[in-house]
Order: sequence, then C-alpha cells, then structure tokens
Amino acid sequence: MIQRAIEAGVTRILIPALELESSSAAIKLAESHQNLYAAVGFHPTELDKWNESSIENLRGLILPHLTPTPGGRGAQGEGKIVAIGEIGLDYYWVKESDKRAQQREVLKQQLKLAQEVNKPAVIHMREENDAWFGQASIDLLEIISEWHAELRTKNHPLVERPGVLHSYNGNLETARKAIALNFHLGVTGPVTYKNAEEKRNIIKQLPLARLLIETDAPFLTPVPHRGRRNEPAFVAYIADKIAEIHMTTREQVAEITTVNAARLFGWGG
Ligand SMILES: [Zn+2]
Repeated sequence: MIQRAIEAGVTRILIPALELESSSAAIKLAESHQNLYAAVGFHPTELDKWNESSIENLRGLILPHLTPTPGGRGAQGEGKIVAIGEIGLDYYWVKESDKRAQQREVLKQQLKLAQEVNKPAVIHMREENDAWFGQASIDLLEIISEWHAELRTKNHPLVERPGVLHSYNGNLETARKAIALNFHLGVTGPVTYKNAEEKRNIIKQLPLARLLIETDAPFLTPVPHRGRRNEPAFVAYIADKIAEIHMTTREQVAEITTVNAARLFGWGG
C-alpha cells in the first residue's frame, strides 16, 4: 500500500489514532517507514476507553519523541509524532447529552496537551444526521475559538498552525470561521461523488492555501474506486477534483497541498 502511494506521488502519510492502543500502533508504524507519521489522541466515539490517566498516558507516549536523542533511535524515529488526533466532537454516533459533554471536556484537555507539546490538532467534527450545520459546529467553533484566543495570549507558535478540521463536512460559514483561526480543512473522497454539488461549491470558495487532501481510509473512497477500501494512493483523485473545481492543474494542487501539510505538521516539504 505504501509502495502504491509512492507510485501515485504521495510523499507523506499521516496515521491518526483512535485511543491509546492505536496511538502506540501509529507511532510504531510511523517508525517503520520514512514516509509515515503519527498522530496520537482519543477520538470522540472512543471515550468509553478514556479515564483519569489517559492524558498522562498520551503525554508519556509523546515526551520521548520531543527531543532528538543523540545515539538514540536515529533519524527515522525522531519527530514522528506530528499531531494530536483524531480529537473532536461526534454528534452523529453519540446522542446522549452527558456523553457529548464528556466529548467537549476531553477535547479541551487534549487541546491543552497539544499546546503543551506544540503539536497541531487533527479535529473530527460530525453533526447529528450528517447535517451541514448544527450543534457540533456551534460547540466546536466555541472550543477552538477559546483555545486559539489562549494561544494568542501566550504568543504560542500554534497560533499560526493550530490544526486541521479533517474530512470537512460543515458549511461555508463554519469553514470561514475556522480559516480565520488559521485552521486548515481536509478534503476527502465525497468531493468526487456525483451528488456532492453543494460540497464542491463550498470548496470552490475556500483558498487552496488552506486545503489538505486525505483519505479518511478505509472509508470515503473517491470515484472511480467508490465501494472499495480507501488507501493513500487514491488522494490523487481528490487532487484532480479540486483542480477541476479551482480551474487549475493536478500538479498545482499537489504542490500547494504538499506545502500546506509540511507547514502544518512541521515535516519536510
Ligand atoms: Zn474523523
């Protein structure tokens, strides 16, 4: 799969986590190949695995990777954790108000950790019934606005690269508010779907300098492979579709989104 990605021109792949176990697995996988990087964190649908030690456990995973160890694990192992994620709000799968309150609380704690270790956040946001706008967007905007204000007060480097709203499925207004907070937006397979005219309209109005392309693998496989398992090589189809929408070339989209990702995650261009 990595080989197919490289052949399709994909230079770097970020592996997001769902909870502690997959955070460790993502780090291990990232260390096994130079093109791979890891995010660590607790996804909002996995909070039955969250407990009072979880933040400390995540910190324990990250701290050994923060400073290069002379004579240590070598260039491949260093700098392999580049983000905190996926973290965020999922009001699609989770309906109970106390569990949604827990999602908000855990999100805030993980944003604080992101700030402490100077890693951007990969943020998941899903509305009840997959609406374009609703309570998840409202709550998320409030939380990331507060966090960004705190970053500004501290003159924190994450002010310039706080994170990405991954596989973005919100409306144009929320996107613009997130961009005003210096967030990026992740574009996935649905942009290629026949009935996604509204989504393409939104993406048309967003600056390329703020877009990332991603799989959300194994889900959301782009046309023409829709229905199969998604994989990194397929982001090329997303680049093609964005090029069409923005009336430019695949090469231009690839170049810009590669630079965007490098700037956000702090890896080489
Ligand atoms: Zn997600």
